[in-house]
Order: sequence, then structure tokens, then C-alpha cells
Amino acid sequence: MNYGMDMTERTHEFQAEVAKLLDIVTHSLYSEKEIFLRELISNASDACDRLRYEALTRPELIKDDPEFKVVISVDEKAQLLTIMDNGIGMTEQEMIDNLGTIARSGTSRFSAALTGDAVKDVTLIGQFGVGFYSAFMVADKVTVTSRKAGEEGATVWTSEGHGSFSTEPAERSGRGTTIVLHLRKEAKEYLEPARLRQIVKTYADHIAIPVVLKGDGETEEGETLNSASALWTRAKSEITEEQYTEFYRHAGQAFDTPWLTLHSRAEGRIEYTMLLFIPGQPPFDLFNPERKSRLKLYVKRVFITDDCEELIPAYLRFLRGVVDSEDLPLNVSREMLQHNPVLQKIRNGLVKKVLGELEKKATKEADGFAGFWENFGAVLKEGIYEDAVNGERILKIALFNNTASDKKTSLADYISRMKEGQDAIYYITGDDLGALKSSPQLEGFAAKGVEVLLLTDAIDSFWLSRISEFDGKPFKSVTRGAADLDKLADKESDGKETPAVDNAEMDSLIALFKTALEGKVKDVRVSSRLTGSSVCLVADDGDMDIHLEKMLKAHKQLGGAMENLRILELNPRHMLIRKLASSVRKNGSSEALKDAALLLLDQAHIIEGDPVADPAAFSRRMANFMAGGIPA
Ligand code: ADP
Ligand code: MG
Repeated sequence: MNYGMDMTERTHEFQAEVAKLLDIVTHSLYSEKEIFLRELISNASDACDRLRYEALTRPELIKDDPEFKVVISVDEKAQLLTIMDNGIGMTEQEMIDNLGTIARSGTSRFSAALTGDAVKDVTLIGQFGVGFYSAFMVADKVTVTSRKAGEEGATVWTSEGHGSFSTEPAERSGRGTTIVLHLRKEAKEYLEPARLRQIVKTYADHIAIPVVLKGDGETEEGETLNSASALWTRAKSEITEEQYTEFYRHAGQAFDTPWLTLHSRAEGRIEYTMLLFIPGQPPFDLFNPERKSRLKLYVKRVFITDDCEELIPAYLRFLRGVVDSEDLPLNVSREMLQHNPVLQKIRNGLVKKVLGELEKKATKEADGFAGFWENFGAVLKEGIYEDAVNGERILKIALFNNTASDKKTSLADYISRMKEGQDAIYYITGDDLGALKSSPQLEGFAAKGVEVLLLTDAIDSFWLSRISEFDGKPFKSVTRGAADLDKLADKESDGKETPAVDNAEMDSLIALFKTALEGKVKDVRVSSRLTGSSVCLVADDGDMDIHLEKMLKAHKQLGGAMENLRILELNPRHMLIRKLASSVRKNGSSEALKDAALLLLDQAHIIEGDPVADPAAFSRRMANFMAGGIPA
């Protein structure tokens, strides 16, 4: 396609996701149609922010028209509502890219989540947001005329919201963007000044530039509808919860209500204000591999960037809001932000503040904190691994699934429930909570009433590889090492326990297993951790945890390191093991018993979620063994 300077109109297709979204939006059951105005004003304000930043290095861009503003005007007769800004504007190509696609991260996941069921999809859109496209909730035709700051020509973008839009060269005096909504009949209310006043007050009061409602007459001065000062510069006592929420939605491109609002000023050697939010709902892109934060950095009320890795650690990337520094130079460049000592200090202050607030919540508002932990715990836990200074603080408030109850527990609470003689914090790691709960390695612990933490987040294996104890108690995987179970007091015995095989018989069985499984296991031994299952695999004391090794292997992170062989443990009270042991004593070694050893090893792997190494051999042995049984 040719996007040169000819004067013809060009038609473009909307990206498929946009077409779907528009379809839902226009036929929408979406009840709060008035939010279209919030979205358009929010975009206008962003456009002014971006130009103000550009103008730091190119002041000529705003020389003729230095006062940023958004102007709303109505034409009652023609039923037109116009929103105009003198922000950075867009070129034709930018309009095609920005107003024809959903550029926001998480789009593909959003699109995949759309069900076609209008009611469900509207909720989803509520979470994702429709931004500019919300204009089509109230208008059956939208034109956008835009002129990029510093350029001559303008472009007009037109669409009726049905799958395509057109672009065409246009006239516009001065830079910025003008959006004209041809209102639907049922949306006439948005022509009434009283209604517009109320909407702007509700949703856009926090916008830092004036939002002006233009009067009828050409000469009449407009009426400024909002407070037009940056919200974070106002006194806390003058800000309502609703204003905080609307600011959060604007700054964080969010559509929910924040769980936590943190507004504070640091004064002294370094001065900055932060207005931070923890979302009520996890954002779509939380687990994107880039782990990007979207916190906005301002310097003396001028927006600098929302893509600053140095401002907060990745494990706090769920935070939204702004940080406004008094000390950074206004002409700060991206490069200057790296290793900048001022920014370092702000970052440290911010982390302290946020963790301090979370600690308060964890103790004073446990239920709310548990909800937060559901949403963001897996992200925050990355800090246990990555933050050498604050990791310990995170560990203290962390919550974990466990075998004692369905409610998550803190480590301190776990320790308070430890059994007499128990001196370690036991855990097991895996991908799936359900599968973990039925791991054979847990049996002996359950029998002794010892609680085990069930860790299912990928990050758990990593921080556990770095942190060895909490409050003087070592972390111990139940899949590793010789179980400490013998040291622990038995639960009240009911006297109905099955007797174990005697030691001599067990020794001969183990010798036979060792020969049969040569090269496939590191060792074979009697288990004290099994009560219901016949066998299980464990890692040797010094070896890597089974789950961690599997995870590293899946991500090709094992490098040249050899996979560790595992130890096979046999349950001397299990019926099958007893029969096998008695057969060895009476008949000595046999093919059938060797098959049994191999079959039991396969079984132990299956329980771990591993594939069977040689399915054909497995089936053959299984058939033989079923036909022949254990030699009596
Ligand atoms: P978002 O604001 O979340 O990026 P929107 O759908 O609201 O998504 O807007 C899409 C994009 O269109 C914006 O990111 C911006 O690049 C561009 N845009 C929208 N409105 C304006 C405007 N008034 N001036 C300049 N660019 C705009
Ligand atoms: Mg927007």
C-alpha cells in the first residue's frame, strides 16, 4: 500500500480483535456508556503529557500554543459532540496503527478469552477496557482529525465502527487531535452541559490540565469543569476515594477498584511524591516474560516515562500510579535513568514503603491480605529470590498452601504448629496442588500429624534453592534425604498397624532390587515415610530437589549437569512388598521378581508425573506379571 501524499481516501480493515470488540461494544449491554468520555479525555491528557515531554528538548513544538487543554463542545442541531486537545497528535500511519488495532499488551490473551457470549464478554471488556473504541457506544460515526506536533499536514480518520475505517488528508489549524462523535439518538443526553459537567467531575477531575466546556457563542469564555491540578500534589484530606479510584483507572489503564492506595510525600535530602495503587484484579500482562512495570515517572509534574526499569523492582510490577521527583533534572534521558543515584534512593524508599504497608495489612487485615496474596503473591515471591535486602521481609508475610488446612499459612503460624521433636519446615514442590496433596512422600508425615507446605509456584523452587532457613528452622523437602520421621513422636497408635517385614527378609529383597535396577536408581532402601503406597522416589541428601530438576530440564537450564539418579524407597508394611519379600526368602531370585522391581520403579515415576521410559517393555512385564503372579 502507498501512504504517500496523494489526496485520495483510503480504506483499511480493523484488526480482527478490534472488529470483535466493536461488535460487542456497539450492541452492547455495557451499562456505563458515559465512560466513553473518561476514555477520550484520558487519551487527550496522555497526548498532552507526551508532547510536554518532547518539548523539553524541542521547545519550538509548543511555542505558539503553550497552554495544554482539552476542549469539549456540542452542536445540538447536528447532534455532534466534539473533544479537542492540543497534545502531540498523530500522523496518518500512527492513526492506522493506534486506532485500528489494540496495541496494548495482553491483546492476544484478551482475544482468546472472548467467548462470543455477550454477557461474559462484557465483563471481560470491563477488565480489559475498550479505550478509544468506547466512542462507538454512543456514536454511530466517529471522525478523528489529527495533526502531529511539528508537522504540516493533518489526517482525518472516519469510521462507522463496522469492520473498516478510512483515512484521508485534512486541514487542521495547529497541532493536536479533534474527535467528533455523531451521537446516536438514544445518546442525546451527552449534549446537555449539566450531564457533561457531572461526567467530567466524576471521572476526570484528577486530570492535570483544564477540561473546558465551550460556550455557545464564539466569543464566550469556556467553563473549566475540573480542578486541573495534578491529583498527587493535592492534600490527602481534599481527595475523595472516588477521585483516587478514577485517577488509578487513568494512570494504570485499569478498570477495577484498587485494593490499596498509598499516597505519600518524602521530604528531606530527596523529595518526591508517590501515589501508588495495588489493583483489585490482576492485570492481564502480569506474567508476561518481560515483567514490565507501568508505573509513571514524573519530574516536577512533567511526565517522563512509564517504562523505567530502575524505578521499581520487577517483583512489584503490579503497582500502578505515579512517582513525581523534585530532584531529577527535567531533561533527564533514558540513559541518565540508569544507575542514577537519585532514582536508586527513590526506589529504595518506595520498596520500603510498599512492604511496610503490606506488613501492616498482613497483621491487621488478614482476610484482605489473603485476597491480595491470591492475586499477586506469586509475583511478590520473586522478591524472595531476587532481593537480597528485602527478601526476608517478603518471606515473613508470604502465605503458603499446606496439608493442615485449606487456608494458606504464614511461616510463623506453621512454626507455631510444629510437632514436638520437629525441627524443620517441611515442604513439597510441584505444578498441581491436587497432585501434590496425594504424593506418596506425604504419607508418613500425615501419619505423624506433621504439616507440610505445598508449593506450586514455579518461583518457589528458586527461592528455596537460595534460602535455607526461616527463624532458625531449616527448610526440608519431603522428597529429599532420609526422612526425619523416626525422630518424631507417633500419633496415638490404634494398635491395628500392619506388622512390617522383618529386617532380614527386607535385606534380601533390597539386594534383589538393587541388582535388577542397577544404573536406574541411586539406591534402594526401606522407607519410613510411606504408609499407604508401596514405593516412592526421593532425592539423595545433597542432590537437587526432584521438582526443581524437572523444571530446569523443561526450560533447558540444566546445562551440562547430569540428571541425578533417585532413591527408590520400599514400604515394608505394604502387602505387595511383604509378599515379594517372602517370595525371595522361599525361592530366591526369579525373573518374576526382577520384573516386579522394574514395574515398581515405573510406578514410582508415574506418580511423579514422569512418562514411562519404555512403554513396550512396561506392558510386556505387566502382562507377564499378571499372568504368573509372585512365585509362592
Ligand atoms: P490506550 O489509551 O490504553 O493506549 P486507547 O484505545 O485509549 O488505548 O488509545 C489507543 C492509542 O491511540 C493511544 O495509545 C494513543 O497512541 C492514540 N490516541 C488516542 N487518542 C489520542 C489523542 N487524543 N491524541 C493522540 N493520540 C491518541
Ligand atoms: Mg486510552
